[in-house]
Amino acid sequence: MSLKLPDLKPFKGWKFSLVYIGILVLGMSLFNYMFMNKSQPTIDYSEFKNKIAAGEIKRVELSDNYFTGFSSTKREMPSMLWFPHTRVAAETTYRTVALNDPDLLKLMDERAVSYYGVSRDGNALLSIFFSWVLPIVFFFIIWRFLMKRMGNMGGGVLSVGQNKAVIVAEGDILTRFTDVAGVDEAKDELVEVVDFLKNPKKYTDIGGKIPKGVLLVGPPGTGKTLLARAVAGEAHVAFFRMSGADFVEMFVGVGAARVRDLFKQARVKAPCIIFIDELDAIGKSRINNIGGGNDEREQTLNQLLVEMDGFDATSGLILLAATNRPDVLDPALLRPGRFDRQVLVDRPDVKGREAILRIHAQTVKLGSVDLEAIARMTSGFVGADLANIVNEAALLAVRAGRQIVIQKDFEEAIEKTVAGLQKKNRIISEDERRIVAFHETGHALIAAFTPGMDPVQKISIIPRGFGALGYTLQMPVEDRYLMTEDELRSKINVLLGGRAAEELMFGKISTGAANDLTKAADIARRMITDYGMSDRFKHVALTSRGGTSMLGIPSQEPLLQREYSEATQQYIDDEIAHIMEKQYAAVTQDLTMNKKLLTTVAERLLEKESLDEKEFKELVENERLTAL
Ligand code: ADP
Ligand code: MG
Ligand code: ZN
Repeated sequence: MSLKLPDLKPFKGWKFSLVYIGILVLGMSLFNYMFMNKSQPTIDYSEFKNKIAAGEIKRVELSDNYFTGFSSTKREMPSMLWFPHTRVAAETTYRTVALNDPDLLKLMDERAVSYYGVSRDGNALLSIFFSWVLPIVFFFIIWRFLMKRMGNMGGGVLSVGQNKAVIVAEGDILTRFTDVAGVDEAKDELVEVVDFLKNPKKYTDIGGKIPKGVLLVGPPGTGKTLLARAVAGEAHVAFFRMSGADFVEMFVGVGAARVRDLFKQARVKAPCIIFIDELDAIGKSRINNIGGGNDEREQTLNQLLVEMDGFDATSGLILLAATNRPDVLDPALLRPGRFDRQVLVDRPDVKGREAILRIHAQTVKLGSVDLEAIARMTSGFVGADLANIVNEAALLAVRAGRQIVIQKDFEEAIEKTVAGLQKKNRIISEDERRIVAFHETGHALIAAFTPGMDPVQKISIIPRGFGALGYTLQMPVEDRYLMTEDELRSKINVLLGGRAAEELMFGKISTGAANDLTKAADIARRMITDYGMSDRFKHVALTSRGGTSMLGIPSQEPLLQREYSEATQQYIDDEIAHIMEKQYAAVTQDLTMNKKLLTTVAERLLEKESLDEKEFKELVENERLTAL
């Protein structure tokens, strides 16, 4: 199972402190009762005098505030420091409020009563202690408790600037890279980061710069947090962990102070890793903040940027961050010199899922269980889902009164989880998978057939979550600033390849191509309106791109200004349809000629869920060789 980080919160619980305060208050009043306020009731002055006259009082103690009469002549010293007024039990004492009465002395002289004055000096130290020191200590303690409680509850006025980062000391992290599976590309990248921390000289000697920030990007539950811990565990350095949300407070400036404090602490502990989980909480783009925005978050983000610029490679500090919303991050964060490295932590494929299941099954007593089959059943599951399934299966086994977990438990556990995931749109049916596989293969093959197109880097049918069922990733070989008309048409072809493959194989078309079609139509429209590539408007730009939007804020996509008539609009629409039709026919022809290859690749994709550049190339080359 996963290894939990020790929770290093200094403060155990609010209830506990209430008890302490209660005891303190009680103690205080007890002391007060015993010392500050002489509890003995007073008698009237006249009665006091009468008792002297009657001989009941043999001795009188005169102090500033009270006269105290005793029934015996023996003078007692305070028995103990702490209980100075405990006296011999037999003695009766009378007390009255002091009056300035010279007659009293005369009377006492007459009755041979011994009398003496006491100054308060004797008890001065004690009384200073109780009336000054103790209350101050008392309030200080209460204040401390409140401070801690506020810090615990997520800040407040008193905890300004106090940091909530959990610092995990070197050696306390037991997570290793072997605890993470199924995200091999990410792991490889991070192995290098560990090497940076362990042997920085190796890189700096050659003049290389160690990256300052590494951003882990990927859907929730794929193991980003786990990977960050593994990095710290492997590198044997201290690890500061903080969530982006911890920086965000009600008061402007608190988050910024926290960031400053975090980096200050980290610099002392260097070499070390600072890990900011859920970076999007503070790193949201400032651009889209129309209407005021969030000052606090902006300040925090600015402070983070300043701090990131403030340390250099030699300081032994590496900033790791994780997010599942890279799209909302402020571009400034992604600039070189900040999070210059982005590591994709993607959903695992079949092999990866099997490996993850193996890791989590280590702590469970397994009967005859085919983890590979389970991996096959769990397309679209992330690491966290799989960990959950193993646990759920173990619970089901216990419920069935078994000592070991068997295949059936896993199957039931998957069923349970699938119901939840289906709601989140992450599970698709077998038929849909086939369609997606052929669709993606269609894109990839057209890209491969077209000279000058960017090579296919990855094809995947692992469900993506937000709507996309699969994807084909092309990597540009070189930076492009100019594109020829042919290249634009090729781009449209690749986009149409998905739907063409679907129609060719299944004789019907699906909604899966909606996004492709939008993009393709957009390219076609621009060819006509912006680039002057249509027959009628050759070399005529029909639109101009204005600078600012209505609010005067520069928008990311400059507003289009139409400069043509309705009739032209009609022509544009017709021409787009025309281009699409023409390209679609060409694509269909291409695919029909390569139907066998299409099937081979799609079947392989169904089996493996994702194909990388090498595997895909091999399949295509093989086909070409056999065709010769
Ligand atoms: P994220 O931060 O990406 O949302 P986590 O790292 O918090 O995901 O993952 C939650 C838990 O799921 C982990 O503690 C681990 O038990 C399990 N898990 C997730 N991904 C993996 C993986 N690739 N390998 C092994 N376990 C994983
Ligand atoms: Mg996380
Ligand atoms: Zn597509």
